[in-house]
Amino acid sequence: MNTKKLPGRKSNNFLYLLIITLILTTMYFIFNPSTQSISEISMSTFKNEINHEEISSIEVKGNKIYSELKDGKKQFTIKESADTLNDILQEIPRVKKQNLDIKITDSENSNFWTDLIINSIPLLLIVGFFIFMFRQAQNSNNQALSFGKSQARLHEKDSKKTTFADVAGANEAKEELIEIVDFLKNPEKYTSIGAKIPKGVLLVGPPGCGKTLLARAVAGEADVPFFNISGSEFVEMFVGVGASRVRDLFKKAKRNAPCILFIDEIDAVGRQRGAGLGGGHDEREQTLNQILTEMDGFEKETNIIVMAATNRPDVLDPALLRPGRFDRRIVVDLPDIKDRVEILKVHSRGKPLDKNVELENIGRQTPGFTGADLENLMNEAAIAAAKTDRKIITQEDIEKSIEKVMMGPERKSRILSKKEREIIAFHETGHALTAHKLKNCDPVHKVSIVSRGMALGVTWMLPEEDKHLYSKSKFEDELVSLLGGHIAEKLIFGEVTTGASNDLQRASKIARKMVMEYGMSELGPIIYGDKDHEVFLGKDLMHTRNYSEEIAAKIDGEVHKIIDRAYSRCEKILNDHMEKLKEIALALLKKETLTRNDFLAFFKEKKLKHATVTA
Ligand code: ADP
Ligand code: MG
Ligand code: ZN
Repeated sequence: MNTKKLPGRKSNNFLYLLIITLILTTMYFIFNPSTQSISEISMSTFKNEINHEEISSIEVKGNKIYSELKDGKKQFTIKESADTLNDILQEIPRVKKQNLDIKITDSENSNFWTDLIINSIPLLLIVGFFIFMFRQAQNSNNQALSFGKSQARLHEKDSKKTTFADVAGANEAKEELIEIVDFLKNPEKYTSIGAKIPKGVLLVGPPGCGKTLLARAVAGEADVPFFNISGSEFVEMFVGVGASRVRDLFKKAKRNAPCILFIDEIDAVGRQRGAGLGGGHDEREQTLNQILTEMDGFEKETNIIVMAATNRPDVLDPALLRPGRFDRRIVVDLPDIKDRVEILKVHSRGKPLDKNVELENIGRQTPGFTGADLENLMNEAAIAAAKTDRKIITQEDIEKSIEKVMMGPERKSRILSKKEREIIAFHETGHALTAHKLKNCDPVHKVSIVSRGMALGVTWMLPEEDKHLYSKSKFEDELVSLLGGHIAEKLIFGEVTTGASNDLQRASKIARKMVMEYGMSELGPIIYGDKDHEVFLGKDLMHTRNYSEEIAAKIDGEVHKIIDRAYSRCEKILNDHMEKLKEIALALLKKETLTRNDFLAFFKEKKLKHATVTA
């Protein structure tokens, strides 16, 4: 989006101007003919020349006496300022008889200006330098002069508008926001029957799901100015800045009403007051208080809607959420399959797609992708196509980009020893085989031993549909397949490697959550540990324990039991299908990547239609 200010530009121009002026003046003095051809002579020579009747004319300018000889040569002499020309001429005996052409000018007009310029150049340079530095400082910190000014950027009405057409999916959110648009457009409709116009709308959802985009779209649809500021911009090193910025921001907004004031990432200032370790949060609290005060201070008719976005609604101060403030909460959630396809369509505008590209298929392969991920995906696909000088994006480009976006680019250059490759192949096959044999695991989509990002290999499982609830048996099966890599290594090579560490970490986390958060163990449907307190103390800093030592030991015991059970189930599956394990691992070593169809071929099962990844 276009913002109004273009910092940096101005000061650069200024510097260029200064340098050009400097060069021009220098050139002027070097090449100026008048300063070049006139030579200086001493006073006694001058007097002598008059005495010998060699001079035809004299001109006095200030302290300089310019004279021209009869042969046309020009020269000048400097006199003492106290002496007049008359005094000098009187000392010359033969001056009387001569017919000298004498002219007296008040002062050295032309030289006065050049002198001024010469003398002021250093001064100009210094002043210019200071102004330059000053602007630099101001631009980089933005605080040199305008501490208390809000840095809100105003998006002009006429700059390229975002509308709801640019936001794919998110239908519930859009429906609620259409109401807001109507408030902004026809406030009388509501005020005339005594309805209050809502003041605050809070957009809640994970990052990249289109909160900022939706806020922009509301402004675009209602055709009102859009003030955009991020919560962190209120927080400054200096006390009181945040509050005064809030004041300034609301003042600006009121001047431009009706308008939308958008505070992005409001959790930066809107955290629960009184929370936090070690002090130093007063500033944030003051800022928050000021926001609350300003919002309360709106008169009934003020047609400003304050929108805010956060991905951590749980940490927000309850005062922000009470009626009259951000009482409207709109959830912008991860897109489901239908929405993903819509988003893909939006972001393939202007990108020529091959005829056989099936965006539905891509949508199915990208559960958990946010709008931002999908945008990135289409962009990567376009880059991949452009790299090979193609004018059209193929299905393959897009599918390869899915993996790139999810797991980082391939690292073909990573050199692995033969033994390492074998270990990785068996490890991945262990995951894939167990997942295939368990009915609650997602279908195996692809197995690969090509290094990507940090991972040495991947087994990629894709759910057939978006899931919202997870059952105990699903977790249990997932644990088995997570351990599959570790146990396959152990069964085949007799020992385990560090390659399984990430798997084990995930497995332990799932098992612990099953016991402590989901009530899926013999300890019963009780939540252990206080989640609310994590807000105050920072998640990793401390886990508040609201249970006894005795229970802690029991929790550990239950976690152990869950993992042990998964371990023996996994071991059994792999032992029962040892032949398949070896067969698939060898094929993987040879081909590096097995697609879903390749994989299913080992089990003589019918091929699924939508599995098309090849690599
Ligand atoms: P958030 O503010 O929720 O973190 P943004 O609104 O900044 O996310 O979204 C980032 C980018 O992702 C947007 O610029 C947009 O291009 C893309 N995007 C996200 N959601 C959608 C959507 N529903 N439709 C189209 N594009 C989307
Ligand atoms: Mg955002
Ligand atoms: Zn693994």
